[in-house]
Amino acid sequence: MSREFAFPGTKQRWAPDRVVDIRHLALVLQVDPAARSVAGVATLQVVVIADATHAVELDAVELTIEAVEVDGKRAAFRHDGKRLRIELPEAVAAGDDLAITVTYHGVPRRGLYFIAPDEAYPHKPVQVWTQGQDEDSRYWFPCFDAPNAKATSELTVTVPATLFALSNGSLVSDRTDGDRRTLHWRLDVPHSCYLITLAIGELSMIETRWRDVPVVYYVERGREAAAQRTLARTPDMLELFSNRFGVPYPYPRYAQVFVADFIFGGMENTSATTLTDTVLLDERAAIDYDVDSLVAHELAHQWFGDLVTCRDWGEGWLNEGFATYSEYIWREHHEGRDAADLELDEWAEMYFGEDSGRYRRTIAIKRYDEPIDIFDHHLYDKGARVLHMLRDVVGDAAFWRALTHYLGKHRHGVVESRDLARAVEESTGKNLDWFFSQWVIDGAGHPELSVEIRWDAGERLATVTVEQTQKSDATTPVFRIPARVRFRVAGHDRDVALDIVDARHVFHIRLDAEPDQAIFDPGRVVLAQVKISKGEPLWLAELTGATLAIDRSAAAQALGKQGGPAAERALGDALERDRFWAVRGAAALALAALRSKAATARLVKALGVEVHPRARRMIARALGELVHDATAGSALAQVVERGDASYFVEAEAALALGKTRTARAGELLRAAATRDSFMDVIRQYAYRGLAEARDDSALGFLLDGLRWGRVSQGRRAAAMALANLVRGRRDREARDVRERLEQVLGDRDFRVQAAAVEALAVIGDPAAIAALRRMVERELDGRLRRRGKEVIRDLQDGTAVGEDVRRLRDELGELRTLATTLRERLERLEARTSEPDAASRGKKAKKTKR
Ligand SMILES: [Zn+2]
Repeated sequence: MSREFAFPGTKQRWAPDRVVDIRHLALVLQVDPAARSVAGVATLQVVVIADATHAVELDAVELTIEAVEVDGKRAAFRHDGKRLRIELPEAVAAGDDLAITVTYHGVPRRGLYFIAPDEAYPHKPVQVWTQGQDEDSRYWFPCFDAPNAKATSELTVTVPATLFALSNGSLVSDRTDGDRRTLHWRLDVPHSCYLITLAIGELSMIETRWRDVPVVYYVERGREAAAQRTLARTPDMLELFSNRFGVPYPYPRYAQVFVADFIFGGMENTSATTLTDTVLLDERAAIDYDVDSLVAHELAHQWFGDLVTCRDWGEGWLNEGFATYSEYIWREHHEGRDAADLELDEWAEMYFGEDSGRYRRTIAIKRYDEPIDIFDHHLYDKGARVLHMLRDVVGDAAFWRALTHYLGKHRHGVVESRDLARAVEESTGKNLDWFFSQWVIDGAGHPELSVEIRWDAGERLATVTVEQTQKSDATTPVFRIPARVRFRVAGHDRDVALDIVDARHVFHIRLDAEPDQAIFDPGRVVLAQVKISKGEPLWLAELTGATLAIDRSAAAQALGKQGGPAAERALGDALERDRFWAVRGAAALALAALRSKAATARLVKALGVEVHPRARRMIARALGELVHDATAGSALAQVVERGDASYFVEAEAALALGKTRTARAGELLRAAATRDSFMDVIRQYAYRGLAEARDDSALGFLLDGLRWGRVSQGRRAAAMALANLVRGRRDREARDVRERLEQVLGDRDFRVQAAAVEALAVIGDPAAIAALRRMVERELDGRLRRRGKEVIRDLQDGTAVGEDVRRLRDELGELRTLATTLRERLERLEARTSEPDAASRGKKAKKTKR
């Protein structure tokens, strides 16, 4: 059940007042990696906005302020550890210039991060990097820390001579003097201060070009080949986005730097993106994995986010929605629409999960505690889906034109949702206020549609009945949905527009002949949960012949639910023959849902012969659905034992093997968990598999996997596997696990801390509340605080899941197996008693489905 997003007492947040317009920010810093300290001078060139201004306030958290000067003269100041109030020597008139200079030092706990090897991780590099978004720049330099102030910037930094330092813009100078090295960077395009970056380390540089712009990759020495492999398509992306957005890449240089222990996947610092080094691809990972989505996302931010910036964080979707949607734009260009469409389903799944499992909220929002709270699946994934719908509503050419107009009009400025609506209206003539209102500003949730498609042969009339079944209330509206239905008549696709405006809407469409296919919302453009009722022959034809892969996959899914001999045959054929790997994968999952011996046999065969690793991975996943099936279990056991060319297939097979509860699973998964892999994926999935196998003897093994010194991703998976094993239990072992996870709430690895929070939610023991409260009070990371508060609330309400769910899940598995056996027996009996021929059986099925 979906909950309120805001906690009781959560207030509205608005962009702050601006007393001065900051034109230029110059930082001159000394960074000492060993002492984890920073010292320096921040100079702000400002123009006064309001008349008779006599004080300026800046954000400066936990910094020691040594002196402040205004236009070269000492100025009085007050600093309470968070805000720095500077008294101007005399009241200043609007339009006057001032130079404010702040001399300071500090040992930052946020904003500026110091990485170094320790006894548990001796190979960790010495690095220092920053993360300003959303309100952490104030921890390492005094600033007006809100996105609605933009200035040009320069940064001069002195570091040990063995290190390099990257910042925004172009390198003005680089001098080494004895054991110190000083680098001076400058960016002459105004940007918000959360985008100011510094990345220090022993870094190698790989340089290439796009048009006249240097494109540069920085990576820890020795990992150059991996960096090149991971980022190779960056120049192509620069070309694509420059063309699509109609504004050439707006900065003099584009750098990407990989850093260790980064607390996000990537950060779009202006002209100098930071990326986590966990995505550096080795050769084996590159077989069936790429990080183009991440690379494209951060690059697209250079336009959406950096050049044009959300006015306040409540409008953050204007940054993140566009960056996420740009992943689609890149895939569509690079691999084609079918591959890009896979993102649509992923985003929908993430958003639907958050909507039903956590909360429902409007995308643009004012009521939140901390900006980081809203960097969620509503912001990224739903935001991207909304832009995909917008593109569909106005049409391709108009969409690109509107983006160009929006970027041009607001270049170097800040925006809110209405600015996008106006820009689209100005360039297309279409007033889309209703669209932005229902999807972004006023409306929350999404349509739940029940669609029925019927054919009247006498009238040659197709009837499409669409019902919006979502409960509409103050926030969830009855939606206006421009959609279409695609008929295939005599071999040709014909799209008919449906403007759905009512809770129940019936459309009659005259056709020349009975359609072979009738697809509601081809390409799944509309963000909705849809139930479709139509004849089996239409589903079968859609699976075999729909133009778009996403529609063929949907047909596979529907046929898997429906079952029957025709569905089974068609799914088997799709598994072997569909031209797109993801449809073969979808057919595999649908076949598994049928749970027949024949279907299992086809899956086992496919696992052996499928050449596309990503399809093979889905086949392995499908086999994992066959709980207690010895054939599936032994096929998966072989893959886990012998390995696979792809890390991901091997990993998926491990998880699936656990799910089948095969007798040998425990032993094979323990062995698999000794293998190192990209992102520790094999170990992660082996741990998950052990939990799925309900291998209670694995607790000690998993506790060892959680230990400091192991790879971060594996540790997180171990935390979750432990929780799944003791979920709902209150015995001594379960208590030991809970207490261990409570300790991990204070881990030095943010992501492991986050996993511990989730694990405690899964265990569902209110005894964890005290430890979670302590974590919420001391923790500096807003993501942990927010999620901690949610879990505390759930544990108090008793809505966290417990033993009953685990038992029901087990029983469901047993029942499914029993149902399969019974159905097969029934089918054999029927075959013996009635002997109808296949054709008449097909016809009968068709009739009852209508
Ligand atoms: Zn982003």
